[in-house]
Amino acid sequence: MKLGSLFLNGLLLILLASILLSSCSGNSGSLNKELESKMNNISENYVKLVLKIGELDSDYVDAYYGPKDWQPHDNLKTPEDSTSLRNFCNAETDSLLNALDALKNFKANEIETLRYRFLYKQLLAVKAKIFLLGGGTFSFDEESKALYDAVAPTYTKKHFQNIIDELNNILPGNGNVDNRLEEYRKSFIIPKEKLDTVFNAAIAECKKKTLDYIKLPANENFKLEYVTNKPWNGYNWYKGNYFSEIQINTDMPIYIDRAIDLAAHEGYPGHHVYNTLLEENLVKKNGWMEFTVYPLFSPQSLIAEGTANFGIDMIFPGNSRVEFEKNILFPLAGLNPKDADKYYEVRKLVDELRYSGNEAARNYLDGKWNESETIDWLMKYSLMSKDKAVQRLKFIEKYRSYVINYNLGQDLIKNYIEHNDGANNQAKKWSLFTKLLSTPQTPSGLK
Ligand SMILES: [Zn+2]
Repeated sequence: MKLGSLFLNGLLLILLASILLSSCSGNSGSLNKELESKMNNISENYVKLVLKIGELDSDYVDAYYGPKDWQPHDNLKTPEDSTSLRNFCNAETDSLLNALDALKNFKANEIETLRYRFLYKQLLAVKAKIFLLGGGTFSFDEESKALYDAVAPTYTKKHFQNIIDELNNILPGNGNVDNRLEEYRKSFIIPKEKLDTVFNAAIAECKKKTLDYIKLPANENFKLEYVTNKPWNGYNWYKGNYFSEIQINTDMPIYIDRAIDLAAHEGYPGHHVYNTLLEENLVKKNGWMEFTVYPLFSPQSLIAEGTANFGIDMIFPGNSRVEFEKNILFPLAGLNPKDADKYYEVRKLVDELRYSGNEAARNYLDGKWNESETIDWLMKYSLMSKDKAVQRLKFIEKYRSYVINYNLGQDLIKNYIEHNDGANNQAKKWSLFTKLLSTPQTPSGLK
């Protein structure tokens, strides 16, 4: 079945209608009680709908901490059971979209408008997910638009080759840049027995810097675990009541820069803080239950991954990260701080290659490249070792166009903050960033 474009055109029509609610009044004022009661009703049914789809795909519900009795018990035994549940979910999605459409003439303040748009976009993604579960296909870009409300730009080989040429000039040794990078990075692996010490120091610093700008509930907390045999590097499982389980995958060597990356991305001010602030501000204060469930394949993921990645730059502006690494993390890991500047110069260039992973995913999932062509590309233009490229291909197969959420998400958040922060003012930046972490946001709404 290839209904992608037709389906998307249909979505576009619905979308145009949805924008109407936002044409109403200003930023403040009390919540409209009648609108809120109708929205709460849609919200409860949205949560139950997402949980039902979770029965058809075990990766779909990333977090749920709402009422236990909203959990479904459909007991799916046969393919026919799944088809009938899928049909039910599809009809339910249409009915909730229609219910939202019927509210479009209500006057709404800014937060109500954000909530409305959020639910609308989440439901459109639900509709796309059901279409995919029924065997429907999209191109890579159609899928990312339908699920994540965004399309990543395409870059040519030349773009990546220019960056690799720069690396060629600064990496020691001769020969292929990928081999030389792998060789160079070997001296920056955190020894296994020092992992926990280094991670705890990284988390403590990320938390301290986050708390300078964001007030968090006193009982927020997390548990850190080391795991193996996963397609990802780190994962945050949010459990509700301001508590996360953060897992770090130790299948591959962990380089020194990953300590801050993972501590900030999974913890502070990344996923743990994002989920905590949504729970505090939207679920506990407002009673907006749609935030008790997190469907992984939805526009919310672009906001989550984008803020988690950009959060690293928020807590470490300018040169402050390299200074911290030199003074604290390198010594804790038994590495020579004198090598830190050069290492971060190399890393900056490698970071600029991050969109090459999108090209790998796009061409592989669109059927243009086979497995070995995709692995070759990842080794050549993402400069991954063979093992890492194989792990990445597994990630692409499992999470598909989700890959854009990291790099495009980070850039959308960065552009939004830099575009709106006036005179590059740190306090204003944090106020914008905190708003993104604690209000309903959609990728296409980031202007
Ligand atoms: Zn993440």
